Amino acid sequence: MQHSDSKGTARRNAAGTTGNAKKTLTILVPCFNEEESLPTLFKRTEALITNPDKPVSYTLLFVDDGSSDGTRKLIKEYASTHRYVEYIFLSRNFGKEKAMFAGIMNVHTDGLVIIDADLQDPPELIPEMVDLWRQGYEDVYARRRSRKGESWLKKATSHLYYQILQKVSRVTIQKDTGDFRLLDRKCIHALQQLDESERNSKALFSWIGFKKIEFLYDRDERKQGKTKWNYFQLVHLAMDGITSFTTAPLKIATWCGCITSLLAIIYAIVVFIRTLSTGIDVPGYASTLIVVLILGGIQLLSLGIIGEYLGRIFTQTKNRPNYLIEEELIRPDDKTDEREQ
Ligand code: UDP
Ligand code: MG
Repeated sequence: MQHSDSKGTARRNAAGTTGNAKKTLTILVPCFNEEESLPTLFKRTEALITNPDKPVSYTLLFVDDGSSDGTRKLIKEYASTHRYVEYIFLSRNFGKEKAMFAGIMNVHTDGLVIIDADLQDPPELIPEMVDLWRQGYEDVYARRRSRKGESWLKKATSHLYYQILQKVSRVTIQKDTGDFRLLDRKCIHALQQLDESERNSKALFSWIGFKKIEFLYDRDERKQGKTKWNYFQLVHLAMDGITSFTTAPLKIATWCGCITSLLAIIYAIVVFIRTLSTGIDVPGYASTLIVVLILGGIQLLSLGIIGEYLGRIFTQTKNRPNYLIEEELIRPDDKTDEREQ
């Protein structure tokens, strides 16, 4: 068996389904201080996993992203009594993106579903996603039909963000989707190769392609605990999305530069002719100031845009691992029928 490290070597598919054997599916749950949500999550996923008519064999993989509450204890207790439970504990909080990546690198089943620990993505929908998977789709992504418990401002800004993103990027971006999706082995393998340091799953899921199908669902409200996002982080995430999807902002900066230079040349000619024909024109303080300020603004903005990309190059060239594992329990060699007891 091959082990994964945080930079790139993926765990081999030990389960490797052959012939008519039941497919195997990992439910990947990134957790950060989720002790309040986990008991309900255990209960709801257990109902799914122990259902005798279930369409696939399940593995439940928790990636603890440096929680400081009782999350790890709960996961360990659960893993000691349930063989289908696996876990990875990261050495500190690396963020959901990296936590998901740690999970993706360690998947050894035929498929993978990513769900949030707060039960905003109902686990009961997984069998329906599996149906689509068995029809041959390789990336079954859940699209939100409604967004309960989110303010109109959050809805409006996220709508606008998608519109802009789709306009400036070359790949098709799935609207109103999060990370709740079922990925086939092919997609998992593709994602394992993308070990870039500034991760943006939305960009990566779109970029890999494969046979995609959307699946509408109603996103529930967070039941326990509280969201880890604030507006600053959302703006950061949005910038991150744009810079990881496309280099369009750099082109926009170039165009702004071209247009302002052209306008400046035209204006210079106008001033030159006017000075020649009517003599030196002393007033014009206000217009000069406006031009200087506008140009200064555009220059700073362009520098900022370049800085964003430069920052990404900087983090990528450091070539640090995406995450570090403190402790793990992965059981790739277990027989699937023994696991579900
Ligand atoms: N999460 C994580 N690391 C973090 C922040 C969040 O693993 O640094 C997990 C969290 O435990 C949850 C999921 O990511 O399972 C989504 O987080 P949250 O509910 O806070 O985000 P939202 O649903 O508000 O987008
Ligand atoms: Mg949530």
